[in-house]
Amino acid sequence: MITALISRKGGVGKTTTAVNLSAALADQGLRVLLVDLDSQASASLSLGVDRADLAPSSADVLLGGLPAAQAVRETAIPGLHLITASVDLIRAESELAVFRGKETRLRGALADVAREYDFVFLDCPSSLSLLPVNAITAANAFIVPVVPQFLAVTGLKNLIAAAERTAWDHGTRVRPLGLLLTMVDYRIKSTRRTVDELRTEHGSLIFAIEIRINTRLAEAPAAGQTIFQYDRHAKGAEAYRLLAGEFLLRGR
Ligand code: ADP
Ligand code: MG
Repeated sequence: MITALISRKGGVGKTTTAVNLSAALADQGLRVLLVDLDSQASASLSLGVDRADLAPSSADVLLGGLPAAQAVRETAIPGLHLITASVDLIRAESELAVFRGKETRLRGALADVAREYDFVFLDCPSSLSLLPVNAITAANAFIVPVVPQFLAVTGLKNLIAAAERTAWDHGTRVRPLGLLLTMVDYRIKSTRRTVDELRTEHGSLIFAIEIRINTRLAEAPAAGQTIFQYDRHAKGAEAYRLLAGEFLLRGR
């Protein structure tokens, strides 16, 4: 199964979820590939890759025709493999545009390598531009992280419909695996109400597990570590372990 992490908003926990959900599943003995599609390479850096060591990257796969298998590298976590991102992805938007089938290049590029894994995750930049479109047409499922803050939670139905339509337009199908509440902060008075409203509006589409705000989750990337390496007893580690369980149930 190939799952894309998408959102129109930045800073909602896409990368944090891609990295730590991948790691939690690998921890259970599953074979996982994380593909970093964000030119900022946050997922790659969070997994301990040095900024100077990002090549070869997903940009080479998408633009240079490098076989994806040759861009796969191991990480410090057994069972978790990575295709890095790099700044070259900034060029990707414009350069991809000249290719025929520009919306489905990733799908073709990943087809072979994806079979080697139980789960593939695609960490996307925050938009619905050509890179996320490529992720959506390559994926079977997608997760939308949502920070439940007043004024910040509109347009979700729209995004889901747009993703489904994008896949449909290119002859593929993708299903919303769920909306994931992240950085949930109940110290903010309005949060409870916003969460309740979201759960009423979207029902079972929202993961039961909520990822609460947790300082350790924010600290781990700077150490180049997943939450399980950085502090496996942190609340954030427990949350992503539980999410892995719910993900497996939903993914069946
Ligand atoms: P996105 O990929 O959607 O832009 P990130 O995953 O990079 O979002 O998260 C944005 C910032 O918030 C990062 O600095 C990250 O470390 C931090 N962060 C993510 N999830 C949490 C959390 N549950 N608690 C605290 N900080 C978080
Ligand atoms: Mg990100």
